[in-house]
Amino acid sequence: MTAPVRAQALDLIGNTPLVRLAGPSAAAGCDIFGKCEFLNPGGSVKDRAALGIVRDAESAGELKPGGTIVEGTAGNTGIGLALVGNALGYRTIIVMPDNQSAEKMATLRALGAELVLVPPTKYSDCNHFVHTSRRLAEETPGAVWANQFDNTANRKAHIETTAAEIWDQMEGRVDGFTCAVGTGGTLAGVAMGLKERDEKVTIALTDPYGAALYSYYATGELKAEGNSVAEGIGQGRITGNLEGAPIDTQFRVSDEEGLEWVARLLRDDGLCLGLSSGINVAGAVLLGKQLGPEARVVTILCDTGFRYLSTLYSAEWLKAKKLPVFDWLRTE
Ligand code: PMP
Repeated sequence: MTAPVRAQALDLIGNTPLVRLAGPSAAAGCDIFGKCEFLNPGGSVKDRAALGIVRDAESAGELKPGGTIVEGTAGNTGIGLALVGNALGYRTIIVMPDNQSAEKMATLRALGAELVLVPPTKYSDCNHFVHTSRRLAEETPGAVWANQFDNTANRKAHIETTAAEIWDQMEGRVDGFTCAVGTGGTLAGVAMGLKERDEKVTIALTDPYGAALYSYYATGELKAEGNSVAEGIGQGRITGNLEGAPIDTQFRVSDEEGLEWVARLLRDDGLCLGLSSGINVAGAVLLGKQLGPEARVVTILCDTGFRYLSTLYSAEWLKAKKLPVFDWLRTE
């Protein structure tokens, strides 16, 4: 099938391919599929939320020609907003914790975003990147705050695009869907969009350690345990996007398990991905095993591994974090 010519660069966002993943399918004993969000122009699933939030602010009359978009982000949303901002003539100001990958910072600067780095803090701290970005938006004339965590234009983008695409690509036969949560836009949006079409689809949260949602969906209590080096995921509260999300079950996956899938997908399939993708695939394998041999389970391949060459794909960094080093990266 030949992809049609797109009328403008923004139309390259979304309509990503879905691929059957051989290794994960063999491990689960059923069919596991990955939605190739790393193929979006900004290299991540967050291009969709960025476009949805900007279009929503325009139609609400909040974002006017020549205006400014301000956001606090682990990086990928900022990259998406910078691309969308460039295409539509908006300035972007991105607030980011300074412990995110150097590649994300360099990418944001290269795209022309104005980058504000803050120390990583707890959400309750008034200097947290989210609160800093809200204040900057309030202080900047003609600016809107994208507010990806609580602005449901984020999950709406996934209801209208990601879920609809998955349903069509799977020809209406989806038994399970799972992914991890940063804002919750992807999980909640895809969950809502799929359940709208077939309420029997099982929706699972896959949580990294250090996040509080596994415990919330299992027991009703927000409680974090352990930690994770995964960027872009790991949530400690019920965001506006997660409110009312139809979650049936939950898994918790360690960085080691996620990294094992990152390594196998690279070595066996030639897919170079970030750690949240590995964690998602580990969760999809768990869900597949639970649903049985006939199951067709979908997950998200969130972002490109090229964003993490100095972290996940660096032997020194992995060693410093006491994580297993991929065989082919070993120098001694
Ligand atoms: N993986 C990566 C690499 C991300 O940057 C994000 C977004 N923060 C996610 C997963 C999670 O997506 P969402 O915000 O839709 O929950």
